[in-house]
Amino acid sequence: MNARQLPDAWDLPRPRYSGYACVWCGASLMQGGRSAGIASSARGKRYAVEVYECLPGQGCGSRAAPPKD
Ligand SMILES: [Zn+2]
Repeated sequence: MNARQLPDAWDLPRPRYSGYACVWCGASLMQGGRSAGIASSARGKRYAVEVYECLPGQGCGSRAAPPKD
C-alpha cells in the first residue's frame, strides 16, 4: 500500500520514530496522521517500529499522492 521505501528505523529522529512526526517530511502529526508502514533496520532484524505519515491533502501527503483527475 506504500510504494516508497521506508527509511532505516535506526536513523529516524526521535519524533518520527515515536510517531509524533511524519516519517517523510517531519511535519507534526498532532492534527492526525496515518500509518506509513513498519520501518525496520538493517542493523537488527528484530528492530522495527510502526511509523506515520501526513494525511492525504496535508503536508507532504498532497505532493506524494496527487489527485489522479
Ligand atoms: Zn509529511
